[in-house]
Amino acid sequence: MAQRDVILNNLCGLQNSNFEVCDVKVFKDREEWYIRRKPNALPICNNCGLAYEFGHHSISTVEIIDQPSGRLKKIWKVSRAKIACPCTLSILVERLDFKADHHLMTKRFVDYIEELLCTKMFTVADIARMFDLDYGIPYKIDHQCLIRLIQHHVLELPENIAVDEKSSKKGHNYVTIVSDIDRGQAIWATEGNDKAALDLFFKVIGKEGCEKIKTVSKDLWKPYIESCNEYVPHATQTADKFHVIKRLSEAVDGVRKEIQNDKLLPSDIRANAKESMWIVRHKMENLNDYYLPKLAELEKTNAGLYRAYLQKELFFEFYKFLPSESEQARNFLLAWVNEARTINFEPLNNFCDYLIRHTEMILNAIITRTTSAFSEGINRKINVLKSMAYGYRSIHYFILKILQRCGTLGQNWKPVPQ
Ligand SMILES: [Zn+2]
Repeated sequence: MAQRDVILNNLCGLQNSNFEVCDVKVFKDREEWYIRRKPNALPICNNCGLAYEFGHHSISTVEIIDQPSGRLKKIWKVSRAKIACPCTLSILVERLDFKADHHLMTKRFVDYIEELLCTKMFTVADIARMFDLDYGIPYKIDHQCLIRLIQHHVLELPENIAVDEKSSKKGHNYVTIVSDIDRGQAIWATEGNDKAALDLFFKVIGKEGCEKIKTVSKDLWKPYIESCNEYVPHATQTADKFHVIKRLSEAVDGVRKEIQNDKLLPSDIRANAKESMWIVRHKMENLNDYYLPKLAELEKTNAGLYRAYLQKELFFEFYKFLPSESEQARNFLLAWVNEARTINFEPLNNFCDYLIRHTEMILNAIITRTTSAFSEGINRKINVLKSMAYGYRSIHYFILKILQRCGTLGQNWKPVPQ
């Protein structure tokens, strides 16, 4: 074989293959590599894997995309025989050992895309853009790769967990996510946000795994509390600060909406409530010079809403208590509730009921020093994930992406051996 042919075959990774390069053409926008079976090699049946000795039925050309070595698209034009192998009594195409299953692409190109996606540095959309592929191609590669990897994924038993719920689209299809706080990773995700969803996690880790769990930090969602009471009754349940603050913000915004929508109130008061949306949703320290005069305006026009806002500001002080100051923290919380009740708006009263109902779990966040940084981080990552795929049509893909992007799925990526 001429040296030139050896180099060309090596460039295509065909040195140990039944196939060889017979020509290369370079155009402005692409390279075309012509590939055919070596003259003395027999076609291999794609079904039974045996060599077929009786000649071929017909030959056609199939186009396969290979990993580009530069900016040019690299297309392999492969002469592929059809054979009438006795194994199925029908006509089949011969096996191409360099072709990926399910894709008109070389296996090495698919492996490369899988590896890039598993670095977490590229999204499916990035890959589609980089290699000028239809979005559906890298999407399918990613999905199949994650399904393969999850089957060998090891769930390491955690001690301190956080439980979160997230929707894959706005308000539909909830997913329950369990994270290992100490390792900083999402370790489990499943469809649904009911008790059965969290039960499933405890069933998977088994009795031994449940006994290991020391604390559970979560949104105070009743089904999750019930699940924890049943499976990990010994664990300390804490209310995640992130979710408590989120509920408080929603309550204060609820007060604002109530005023804005109250048709019995004068229009200027309602208009002022509407204008104050930005203010009540942000902490005072984050308001700039433009909003500070508006805050003064709010105080004059909507004293109740202004008080609710200050009450929210005050609540952040609660999380400054040290574990040794749990009694002071408890008194602070009760005094806060008494004060908030005098403002007397339904959304805020509901929040007070929530605090009273779950005082112990909220105090546990102080005692165990659980921060909300972790939950905030996971939530941010998942929001990015959601914006990347404009709402996931397949909830199972969404779950796999959470475990990849927020966990360790795919960290030890290896290609499937040929
Ligand atoms: Zn066969």
